[in-house]
Order: sequence, then structure tokens, then C-alpha cells
Amino acid sequence: MAELEGLEFGKSDFVLLDEVTMEQFMDNLKLRFEKGRIYTFIGEVVVSVNPYKHLDIYGKEVIEDYRGRELYENPPHLFAVADAAYKAMKRRAKDTCIVISGESGAGKTEASKYIMQYIAAITNPNQRAEVESVKNVLLKSNCVLEAFGNAKTNRNDNSSRFGKYMDINFNFNGDPTGGHINNYLLEKSRVVQQQDGERNFHSFYQVLRGGSDELLKSLYLQRDPAEYAYTSQGASVTLASNNDSLCHKAVMAALKVIGFTTEEISSIYKILSTILHLVSPILSALEDCFLMLKFLNANTRKALLYRTVATGGGEVIEKGHNEQEASYGRDAFAKALYERLFAWIVGRINSVIEVKDYNPALHGKNTVIGVLDIYGFEIFDNNSFEQFCINYCNEKLQQLFIELILRQEQDEYQREGITWQHIEYFNNQIIVDLVEQPHKGIISILDEACLTAGKVTDTVCLDSMNKKLGQHPHYTSRKLCPGDKTMEFNRDFRIRHYAGDVTYSVEGFLDKNKDPLFQDFKRLMYNSSDHVLKEMWPDGKMSITEVTKRPLTAATLFKNSIIALVDKLACKEPYYVRCIKPNEVKSPLLFDDGRCQHQVAYLGLLENVRVRRAGFAYRQPYARFLQRYKMTCEYTWPNHLMSTDQEAVEAIVNQHGFEDDVAYGHTKLFVRTPRTLFTLEQERAAL
Ligand code: ATP
Ligand code: MG
Repeated sequence: MAELEGLEFGKSDFVLLDEVTMEQFMDNLKLRFEKGRIYTFIGEVVVSVNPYKHLDIYGKEVIEDYRGRELYENPPHLFAVADAAYKAMKRRAKDTCIVISGESGAGKTEASKYIMQYIAAITNPNQRAEVESVKNVLLKSNCVLEAFGNAKTNRNDNSSRFGKYMDINFNFNGDPTGGHINNYLLEKSRVVQQQDGERNFHSFYQVLRGGSDELLKSLYLQRDPAEYAYTSQGASVTLASNNDSLCHKAVMAALKVIGFTTEEISSIYKILSTILHLVSPILSALEDCFLMLKFLNANTRKALLYRTVATGGGEVIEKGHNEQEASYGRDAFAKALYERLFAWIVGRINSVIEVKDYNPALHGKNTVIGVLDIYGFEIFDNNSFEQFCINYCNEKLQQLFIELILRQEQDEYQREGITWQHIEYFNNQIIVDLVEQPHKGIISILDEACLTAGKVTDTVCLDSMNKKLGQHPHYTSRKLCPGDKTMEFNRDFRIRHYAGDVTYSVEGFLDKNKDPLFQDFKRLMYNSSDHVLKEMWPDGKMSITEVTKRPLTAATLFKNSIIALVDKLACKEPYYVRCIKPNEVKSPLLFDDGRCQHQVAYLGLLENVRVRRAGFAYRQPYARFLQRYKMTCEYTWPNHLMSTDQEAVEAIVNQHGFEDDVAYGHTKLFVRTPRTLFTLEQERAAL
């Protein structure tokens, strides 16, 4: 068993602070970071600080140390939480979930990968082939999804530009039998536009840099990403920390392991190539791409230059684009191609890992561990519709944290008959409402503007928001801050988020929310004889005269998907990893006090400690407690003669003088501070 840490590393659980003040919290966090101890508990929650350097703490021996152990038996680690979630799932047949939160660059995606590796390492001791294959696909899917869904931003070289929630299914043995990935709103605007210093999705650079000469030639591609407008706008083509060429090979290998066919892999790269060529001056290469994907016909050129519309009288006419409309249509087409490709890849992975032929009567209850890794809260110089959605999503997750941490504690105390004292939190429900409330919230106002016939501009919509929300304590319009030069009239609005103020530019909001794509493109793709491409465009089947229901807007679709996600998480037993970004410059040495303190404050970590302290940080069924500590007390070793386990536990507690630190529930012992358990652990080890 790993040694518990000495005091020179600070307190391994914030619950042990002498006093719960911001100062003590920060001193402890900083001390631990400087000593390379990046994880600290708050009870069962793990606080993690991004080390920005490789640490040798994820190897096989470390995994063995954590396997099957209780949280406080080892130093804080992601593995301890992963094990707790796994144990709860296995012992009590509970669905559990691990929610990883923190701002962009704080280390969520890395944490989720270590957690999955841990779960993979501790399961399937008998090495059954079908289980191994499920594990393999689950692990390999990360590499593929990162290639297509992550990109370099100014906050993070490998920033997730989509949200990911993965369910892993287990059989009654506790071995993975399958899984399912839900993806949330890919930031597709990146395909056609990148801010200064940023890149397009990794996948483009990977194929250009790592694809074989043969592949590139067959795709009519030049090696240099600077050749293509879509991969060179951000002027940040190279990426030191990411070896595009090696990654390409890894992605290819992963696609094969997962089970993508040669034909499918080929279609994926043809689509990437087509997107790049859409804005290249070499028209012949573009036409060659269309040919490869088998949709070059008389309609292709037309789709780029004209649109077909049905008039009120049912007549079908062709309308020529002006230059602006044509380039707008082309960009929308590029974004849609990529978005559908991504969704198709996720769906394809799901079809491989989906649990098949599971019969609960035969195999027992099928339980689930969910792992959530979503884009973190972000503030850029320019914040647009995408940041608005991402930050709203983070508000929802913070709300869930508040709700679950409080609710869970309350429920348990009530069930076990223990009295409890309420702790005040900042409740961000008010900000959630500002965004999502029907009729009044920002999304409703946006939708209304999108539905209004005629030309409602972004500015008109902003006006309407300012009128309706001007009084809201978390909403600010430019008019309300006369001296504020950081906001522009008729363009900006500001939300006071739980994690900080963000100024959004309303430019492009309506268009991104409406997310229109000319029907002609859909039909063209559906009629391709490349059946992988065709599969991505089922809605191209409709003819122009068919009346279609107005599709839901992007914001409403996103809102619905996030509400469904929260419902899914709320019915599981939650485990939390709270990630903190130590500085803005990716340095392993710098602990920026101000930035860290800000994160600790908005994540509500201090309140979290207070709740744990006011209540009882640890609880254990009597039998389990007895089993582990009976050797530390003469009345219980080797066996006790009392009539119940609870009485025997009382004997241990009294002998050590811990009476003030515990309470007795109906089935469990409640322990206020980890000190009690640490002492017992040490005594046990000394025997
Ligand atoms: P986003 O919201 O932008 O997706 P994120 O929270 O997922 O951000 P990560 O991509 O996990 O952030 O981490 C950013 C970078 O920090 C990683 O690419 C890696 O370089 C470093 N990093 C994070 N966690 C660790 C760790 N445990 N050990 C070493 N380096 C780490
Ligand atoms: Mg990430």
C-alpha cells in the first residue's frame, strides 16, 4: 500500500485545515502544487491542479495501490475517485458518474483519460477476449475523437471543441461490456474561421503532415497547411507540443482497431480534402474531389452558385447567388460537411461498442459509469455564440454540483437519522434562468428574432435583449456602463457568469443560431453514390416542394441536449474532479495566486469544505469498519462478543477517544474528519 503522505506536503484533505479560510486553502493548495502533489481531497471530491509537466504517478504499481482501497487509505489521486465510483457501481449495483469540471486548459481531458485507463486496468482479470476488445475500442476512441474534435486555441493547445459524455456499461462481474458516447455541439465555425494564434481541428494538419505521399497525391493535397485558407487563417500552423505527423499514424491505427473499413477511412479523408479544396483557387482539384466522392454532376456547380427555392405557388425556381451569398453558402457547406462527418464517426464508434444481446434475467443488472468531459468555461478577446453556449453549459454543470452536493448530503443524513446544519452557497440558478428561461431568457429572445419574418439583424436582437434584460443583475448592456470602453455600442452585451464576466459580441449570433444550409447541398450529398457520404445526409432525401417543419435553432437544440445530459447525471451517484489551471502560460513552475484563488472561489470549493466539515466527511457500514479496524481494540480482536456490529464499533471508537468526531447512523458510522481514520490507519499499519 502506498504510504500516506507526510505533513511536509500539506494537508491531503482540505477538510483537515485548521480553519476554513481562503488564505489557508490557498496556502495548502500552493504548497502541494510546489511539492508536486497536484491532487487534494475535499472528502470524496478530488481537486486537481494542472502540473503542465509529466508526472510519474499513473503507472501500473500506482494502479495496484489504489485498486479496491478506500479513499483515505492512500494519498489523493484520480485513481481513488475512479475506484470509489467503480466500487459503488459493483458493490451496490449503482449507476455512477464522474463529472470533471474546470476552465479551458485545466486538465479535464487528461483526467478523463487517466480515469478510463484506470478502469480498463482493473477490470477483466480473466482477460476474456470480448471484454478486452470493448476496452480497446473505448480507449482508442479517445484518440480519434481528439483528432477530429480538438484544436489549438489561445487557452489550450489541445482544447476540446465538443462536449463528450461517455457511458461505460458493466456486467454483473464488473467487466465492461460496451458503452455509448454522446457528443455535444461541435464548434464547427472553426472549420472556416480561426482567431489569431489558433488552428483548425487537428485532423486537417495531421493528414497533411502525416499522410503518406500516396494518400496525399490521391487526395490532390499539398503538404503545407499554409496552402489552404481554412488551415492558415489563425497563422498558427505549427504546434510545438503536438506532433501532427505521429498523431496521424496513431489515428489511422485507432480507426482500424475500432473497426472502420478501408472504404470508410478513405471516405473520411476524401471529405477532409474536399473541405480544404472548397476555398482553394485550384478548381480542378475541387472537381477531382467531387468526383472521388461521387457527387460531381451538373448540379454540383449549380449548388455552389445558385439555390433552388419553391415559390408560394409551388413553383420551383433557381436563384443566382451574389458573391457574398455564394461564399456564405460555401462556408456553411464546409461546416456542415465537417459536423456531419464528426457526428457520423461518433455514431460509428457507438455502433461498435453498443451492448448487444444483454439479457438482465441471465446476466444480472447492467450498470453504468458515466464520464463527463466537456469544454470548460472560456473567455477570449472575442466571445461569440460558441462561447455563449459553452459557458451556459458550464453554468448548468455548476448548478448540478450545487444541487447534488447538497441534496446528496441531506438525503443521506435524513435516511440515517442524523441532524445536519445548512450551509449557504452562491446559487447560480439565476444565471441559468437568464439564459434558458422560456419567453424571457436570452435563448428565447434569440429564437424569436430568428423566427421573425424579414430582416431582423443582430443589432435589433441586441436591442430587444437590452430592453427585456436590462434590469437583470447578471446582464449588462453598453448603455448601463457609460465609461466602459471595453464594450461597444450596438454590438456587445455582458453576462456576469459564476466564473467571471464575459462580454459577448452579438455579431453573427442570429446566423449561427438559425444555422441555415441550402437544401441543394443536402440533396447533392444524399445523391452521391459514395455510400458513406450518403449515410451522413439522410435529410437530403426530401424534395424541394416537400413542406418541412421549421427546424429547432442551434441554441435550443443545445439547450435541450444539455438539459437531457443533466437529467442523466442527476440520477446517478456522482463523483467529482475539480480541475484548476495554475497559470495562463502553461508553466509547470508558476502558481498564479490571483488566478487560482479566483477559480477556487467560483468553483465553490470553500463552501464545499464547509459542507463536508459541518457534516460528516466519511461514512462506513459498521461491518466494513469493524473488519478493517478490529485489530486496534482489545474488545474486538480477534472477534467481538457484543450483540451488534454497531456496539463493537462503539467499543473501538471509545477506546481511541473519538466519541466527539463520530455519529451513529442506522447502518453506518459517520466520521466528521479524516484525522480519525488516518489515526486508525496508522495504528493498523504499525501492528
Ligand atoms: P478544454 O476545456 O480546453 O478542453 P481541458 O481542461 O480538457 O481544456 P486538457 O486538454 O486536459 O485541458 O489539458 C491541457 C494540457 O495541460 C494538456 O495538453 C497537458 O499538456 C497538460 N496537462 C493536463 N493535465 C495534466 C497531467 N495530469 N499531467 C501532465 N500534464 C497535464
Ligand atoms: Mg478538454
